[in-house]
Amino acid sequence: MRSRADTLLLFGATGDLAQRMLLPSLCALNAGGLLDPNLKIIGTARTAMDDAEFRNFARAALEKFLPAERRGPIAEFLNRLHYQPLDVTNPDSFTELAAKVGPEGKRVAIFLSTAPSLFEPTIRGLEAAGLAGDGSRIGLEKPLGLDLASSREINDAVASAFPERRIFRIDHYLGKETVQNLLALRFANILFEPLWNAQHIEHVQITVGETVGLEKRADFYDQTGALRDMVQNHMLQLLSLVAMEPPSSFESEAVRDEKVKVLRALRPVGRGESVTGQYRGGAVGGQIVPGYDEELGRESETETFVAIKAHVDNWRWKGVPFYLRTGKRMPKRVTEILVQFRDVPHSIFKGVQTKPNKLLIGIQPEENITLSLMAKVPGLDRDGIALREVPLDIAMPDAFSGKERRIAYERLLLDLIDMDQTLFVRRDEVEAQWAWVDKIRELWGEERLTPKTYAAGSWGPSAGIALAERDGVTWHE
Ligand code: NAP
Repeated sequence: MRSRADTLLLFGATGDLAQRMLLPSLCALNAGGLLDPNLKIIGTARTAMDDAEFRNFARAALEKFLPAERRGPIAEFLNRLHYQPLDVTNPDSFTELAAKVGPEGKRVAIFLSTAPSLFEPTIRGLEAAGLAGDGSRIGLEKPLGLDLASSREINDAVASAFPERRIFRIDHYLGKETVQNLLALRFANILFEPLWNAQHIEHVQITVGETVGLEKRADFYDQTGALRDMVQNHMLQLLSLVAMEPPSSFESEAVRDEKVKVLRALRPVGRGESVTGQYRGGAVGGQIVPGYDEELGRESETETFVAIKAHVDNWRWKGVPFYLRTGKRMPKRVTEILVQFRDVPHSIFKGVQTKPNKLLIGIQPEENITLSLMAKVPGLDRDGIALREVPLDIAMPDAFSGKERRIAYERLLLDLIDMDQTLFVRRDEVEAQWAWVDKIRELWGEERLTPKTYAAGSWGPSAGIALAERDGVTWHE
């Protein structure tokens, strides 16, 4: 059931995410005429500010993080903004918030961009202040717990005030254009789906490389590690979109029903099917950078790199490995999916090596889709035909050059406001993700696995490369 919100309540409005992503996304939506003229945006956090001060604060964030050509009528956007200082641990402060929302605020979209430890008091406060009624919906930022048990606690707390159809769990990867385009490619074309199975696909690779190290959230990251920070959410969502059966429609329940079946079909990772690493000093992009332990200021056993050979145990994917790899201080910032097809069953071109087709879906930094095909090299072929692999660029930027590139959060905020859950993660998905990840961590505990070191600026420890090479697979770089 869709119902457009009349008020957006932004918790954590003074935070990093709000400044870098949420306020710029809202401003860009306003510039595109995509926000209802009456939509009121109320920011909250503990910092004492009035509306005018918050508008100045927002203006500074927009000037820093949103290109000038995307800002539109900035004064019009700033006029939508209001602010209510509030400590979510103090139940009384919600009464003032409810007054600020006012009696006309019947359909409230709530976005919690705060630490998950604050979700429970926030929800209690919203409920007591009458802000969790039928017209309200709530968006939650990751991380939703550190394991299945803590994730259930958070989910239970939210479920005590909001039914599932009004809970929007954010995985911002789902807001990215190429991620959605993967569904268009698979299900709006006849070409791929007949080949999209174990008979024709040899393996799939999903890589998420970051060049950055610890950055500001050192303690958070050290408690989390690469498996829980990246694999549990973003990478498993990408995997489920690649592997899912065709949903009957692009409706939220149909899509999410198919994704969760994949997540539940993930085989527990076995011994020798995962590798962890932690970076030491090295060079990234020509810059000398310190090791993880040096950045952290102490020794740690947290993995900053993980590579996994995963399997989806169903008919479609029988025997097709999904190689996942993510790490910090990698040589380049990249998120991509590689679908490696099998070779032709018989080559008619004697003595000429054909290369199996591959489909490369670039998600970050470039949004791009490339299909590698074999083609004839032009010439008279006196010494026999020459073939070469050529990329067929199904690229987004060129094909849709007139179209504006949107920030993932623009799409997600708009869907939250419009109450469309298709690109949000359902509780059973999150829990299936955690169940699989928890088993990996249990295995690491049993094996007493400690991360292998790798030089910053490399693609992780050599064991990560060997994980694929053992199967005759080379990581795409
Ligand atoms: P942050 O910079 O630390 O911001 C936290 C916000 O919460 C601030 O606005 C803070 O404002 C407010 N806050 C803290 N305690 C509060 C309380 N008791 N009552 C009311 N407000 C309170 O964090 P962030 O980086 O923006 O991240 C927000 C959430 O998104 C976190 O859960 C994070 O894990 C997640 N996330 C962040 C990113 C990112 O790129 N930053 C990416 C993905 C997910 P005051 O100090 O003024 O109260």
